[in-house]
Amino acid sequence: MVLFSNLRVWDIEKREFVKQDLDFQKDDSIIKTFATEIDASELIAIPPLVDIHVHFREPGYEHKENMLSGAKAALSSGIFTVLEMPNTNPITDSVNTILQKKKLAEKQNYVKLLVASAITEKNYNELDEINVHADAYKVFMSESFGNLSVSYETIENSLVKLESIESSKPIFFHAEDPKILEISKSHSSHNKRRPPEAEANAIQQVLSWALDFPKLKFHITHVSSGLSLRILELSKHTNVTLDTCPRYIYFNQTSGVEDKLNQVNPPLRDRIDSDLLLKSLATGLIDMVSSDHSPHTLEEKLTKSVSGMPGVQELVPSILSLLNKGEIEWDRVIEALYSFPSALLNLPKIDLTQNMIILNMSDPVTITKNWVKSKAGWSPFEKQLLVGHMLYAVKEGKIVYETEN
Ligand SMILES: [Zn+2]
Repeated sequence: MVLFSNLRVWDIEKREFVKQDLDFQKDDSIIKTFATEIDASELIAIPPLVDIHVHFREPGYEHKENMLSGAKAALSSGIFTVLEMPNTNPITDSVNTILQKKKLAEKQNYVKLLVASAITEKNYNELDEINVHADAYKVFMSESFGNLSVSYETIENSLVKLESIESSKPIFFHAEDPKILEISKSHSSHNKRRPPEAEANAIQQVLSWALDFPKLKFHITHVSSGLSLRILELSKHTNVTLDTCPRYIYFNQTSGVEDKLNQVNPPLRDRIDSDLLLKSLATGLIDMVSSDHSPHTLEEKLTKSVSGMPGVQELVPSILSLLNKGEIEWDRVIEALYSFPSALLNLPKIDLTQNMIILNMSDPVTITKNWVKSKAGWSPFEKQLLVGHMLYAVKEGKIVYETEN
């Protein structure tokens, strides 16, 4: 047993930290700590976190990432549950491909991996069977990595079907309007080819569907622009939730990531957008954060102009670093990375006295390639000084992970 004395533990009902002495068993095959008592007065414990948007690239693109490497990166920063997106090869859009991916996920036990099914031109007739196995749906309203865009007519047919079977699974929207992307495609720069109007228009469309299908759960993922926030401020319905990603808060067209590495969909915007996203996350207009961990190798990024960047390992420390600067409160961080994602994904209640992550908030680490666990081998956050690194993960009363120093 290991005793953590004077540990400040987040109390989910009281919405504050409460000092406690906690005893946990340890998995001796993994944990090397010999200490039986740890002075935890400088540490904090919060619930195990959830990342609702990752691409672990398996099957099909295992040179970029696989279940094992992605899951290890996630757990090492305090994430116990992830939702894996369907643009793999094969695409996850049938009972078979969902079960195949769940089987692949069994190769690791670092995280619980949930599987999102794509909604495609051909699968809406099978949604009743798919709904039994899929944990969520993903709708690509326009082209992105993996060519999964689907017509608005098919989306509507699928929503009718999901409503008729009373689906409680959240429907994730990559919101960029294909018509606006089409008329913008001759621009020379990536961000001009995918303007904020494309996202704003697509969001208006999702909001109108949300009104038409009030019992379905609509989730707009990776909101990137201030223009979208203006619309959402006025008409975010109760069956709509939102997330943004740290990359849109930390980086923009003028700062942050070097040119060839910064290409993502939707693109990085302007500094004002980053500021508005942070403010909206802090106030709760944006419910949650996700990483949209979408790794490519450094060589691919430098030579092929592919969209996406890693982020699952950076998600927690990047948000906790914003907290450390006073930009966002603990209550919102726990909602954005635990309570709201758990509700969105219909996760079963867990015993928070037996499941937690123990963090150090006063030991900043400069992000380097060496720190990165993703197979991508690089991070857009390199050279950033981040706090909020996990030291121990406790699952079912047992320490199952300790950060190696
Ligand atoms: Zn994504």
